[in-house]
Amino acid sequence: MNFPSKLKSKLKDRELGNTLRKLGEPKGLIDFSSNDYIGFSMEKSIALKSETDLKQIKHLNGSTGSRLLTGNFEIHTLLEKDLASFFKAESVLIFNSGYDANLGLLSSVPQRGDRIFYDEYSHASIRDGITLSNAKSFRFKHNDIEDLRKKLKATPSVGEDYVIVESVYSMDGDFAPIEKLVDLSVELNFKLVVDEAHSTGVFGPNGEGIVVQKQLESLVFARIHTFGKALGCHGAMIAGSSLLKEYLINFSRSFIYTTAPSPHTVLSVKNALLFLPTSKARSKLHKNISCFKENMIRFKLEDYFIESEGPIQSAVFGSPEKVKEISSRLANKGYDAKPILYPTVPLGEERIRFCIHSYNTTDEIQEVLFLLSTFV
Ligand code: PMP
Repeated sequence: MNFPSKLKSKLKDRELGNTLRKLGEPKGLIDFSSNDYIGFSMEKSIALKSETDLKQIKHLNGSTGSRLLTGNFEIHTLLEKDLASFFKAESVLIFNSGYDANLGLLSSVPQRGDRIFYDEYSHASIRDGITLSNAKSFRFKHNDIEDLRKKLKATPSVGEDYVIVESVYSMDGDFAPIEKLVDLSVELNFKLVVDEAHSTGVFGPNGEGIVVQKQLESLVFARIHTFGKALGCHGAMIAGSSLLKEYLINFSRSFIYTTAPSPHTVLSVKNALLFLPTSKARSKLHKNISCFKENMIRFKLEDYFIESEGPIQSAVFGSPEKVKEISSRLANKGYDAKPILYPTVPLGEERIRFCIHSYNTTDEIQEVLFLLSTFV
């Protein structure tokens, strides 16, 4: 069967533009790339506990259906209770992924006549959710409160207004100005939604994220936490009011029309959460972030890097060829740091995105930055 020619030519364009994506498998390189910030995906004690817990479950392999049909087990309900208590939320609803959570929230909550304002660097899952919504959407400049204020005031509000940001931006690694956004939400009466994918397990006294760290949870309409990054598992949740949970159960299509998370997934998240408060990995991660920043200065690289105090440190080099070349030279020396290309980032902002982990050593951090300084 012929493959459609339009699609072939789109692939060709990617190839010509040096932006064709390909699947690769881990090659055993030193990890400056994965989202496994505190090494929980490899934590044997979590896996062993989940294995033991799983022995008590009838449906060992799968959940058999949607949560609204046959797939809602006691462990799902108990996990949501644990999560609500941990993340200091009235209610929590689990989704199969962060992508599903953003899609399900943004496609169902803002109504026709409402307005959604989103940061220009918002994750694809946020944009896709907005695309599916009947509300009008407006993009504001990255982390620019004055631009947001201007856009909120530029057209009359006839319904609800929603503003969505990421507490830590996935490609730039910088932070949203959460306190200022909360102040503005009170002043201009909008509902703030915060995607905490990259702060979950990393920030907050026990890894509860930045909103809880700043004790602002009662002023945020909804928070999205993902389990596939620092928690080392899979899936996501939305934290908010009981009414929000009830609404999502009834109207969020990415929650309703899909098989519930498997028992193994649920137990892994439950046990990751159990280990999180006492884990020493979070403080090790923060030491490594400081070490990375010190060495960035030592090797005179700071002008390339986007300012961030978090685990994502991106160095912008501005051409696909350049970042691919740097990444492949780093790989030849044993280091995995991925090139990030258009359309994930704007054209001309191609970068090497370093993810720092609790398990990176000081020597590795020093060497990877030394090498980078010789390649730029
Ligand atoms: N939001 C943000 C900010 C993300 O970076 C990601 C993952 N890249 C997601 C949502 C999606 O989460 P998941 O991988 O669980 O689908």
